[in-house]
Amino acid sequence: MTEPRPSKTAAASNKDKNKAMVALPQVRVTRRGAQRVQAGHVWIYRSDIQSTGDAPAAALVSVVDERSRVLGNALYSSASQIALRMVTRATPDGVSWTDLLRQRIAQAVDFRQRHVNNTDAYRVVFSEADSAPGLIVDRYNDLLSFQVLTQAMDPEPVREAMIAELAERLDPVSILERVEPRIRTLEELPERSDGVAYTRAGSEPKTSTIFTMNGVRFHYDAEAGQKTGAFLDQRENYAAAARYAHGRALDVFTYQGGFALHLNPVCEQVAAVDASRPALEVADRNAALNGGREIEWVEANAFDLLRDYSDAASRYDTIVLDPPAFAKTKRVLEGAVRGYKELNLRALKMLKPGGILVTCSCSFHVSESEFLEMLSSAAADAHRRVRILEKRTQSIDHPILLGVPETYYLKCVICEVG
Ligand code: SAH
Repeated sequence: MTEPRPSKTAAASNKDKNKAMVALPQVRVTRRGAQRVQAGHVWIYRSDIQSTGDAPAAALVSVVDERSRVLGNALYSSASQIALRMVTRATPDGVSWTDLLRQRIAQAVDFRQRHVNNTDAYRVVFSEADSAPGLIVDRYNDLLSFQVLTQAMDPEPVREAMIAELAERLDPVSILERVEPRIRTLEELPERSDGVAYTRAGSEPKTSTIFTMNGVRFHYDAEAGQKTGAFLDQRENYAAAARYAHGRALDVFTYQGGFALHLNPVCEQVAAVDASRPALEVADRNAALNGGREIEWVEANAFDLLRDYSDAASRYDTIVLDPPAFAKTKRVLEGAVRGYKELNLRALKMLKPGGILVTCSCSFHVSESEFLEMLSSAAADAHRRVRILEKRTQSIDHPILLGVPETYYLKCVICEVG
């Protein structure tokens, strides 16, 4: 990412304003660390740090290479294996992290205004991809929900700046915090609990709402037993799936009905499966919001159910597979690919000629080529001719940042099965 360097006069006027001109702590990185940054990545691992220059936890630091050349500014974590997360390559000392974060949020909001359509629910800030590492913000109509995932996003002044900027830009009724206890432990942050962090003056705090994507309505309820919220990253894939879906449809791993509700208006019959009853209860309430034909919600283990259905020779015109991330780490990759293959093989066998398979993986560790290889091997074993209609990824509000492969995680392949 390139940024204009501030002109000399801008730097001078900053000085005049007596902005925090205290030099930032300097963190020196190895050659390997420097090369990684130069190649476009934004993470530097602890093993690539030569000296931390006494940087305190959560600090904005200046990153230099072995020969003291400045690589940019980063946020320092004293706990994570990812010790540094770059936030800029150009800003000189003197810019505070709170100012920079406000700029990043404003830019993230502008990006969505330029590119996101047909929804009042989308990701407003996507961490590294918006140069705001460790911050996730989602919008559900008049509510915002945020998660803090790094030390540098946690201090009170940073939270205040973040909330002020979000409130100013998007004017939500309330801003809610969703705590990730596992991440807070990893980052050695004090415990917190979920809660309302902000409410618009004159309004009552609000924790539930209804949002609309692609004309389909959904409940959002931050206080429900099972946390609700949608998989916003599938939003554009829902609409794409509905363009091809027809006949008798099965949505496997439906959660709160994302695909099923989009397929319902275009299919003759829709059944949807999930192992979680609370998720299916919300799915059913979502269905009631949208009217239309009844959807059959099936509480079951997807692996068992697909085996039973395929043994019983059930046939479908459309099948969606959107399992949870099977490969959460590289170590379990092989098992994960086996899991994907089993699901896809069964689905392929159950599709009628001309049927549509929408198959997804949200495991970053399973690359697009590994996913396609798995699918190809499932097609061969199923003796089916499979043609790809679309290769898709996460919605545009979860942008993929080139140079940071971790930001490209969702694969969604739509195919026609002969
Ligand atoms: N398709 C959904 C998101 C799916 S998330 C959407 O677009 O919103 C993954 C879902 O898989 C979760 O709802 C989880 O409850 C469910 N799940 C996990 N393991 C399962 C299993 N073995 N059988 C059935 N459902 C499972």
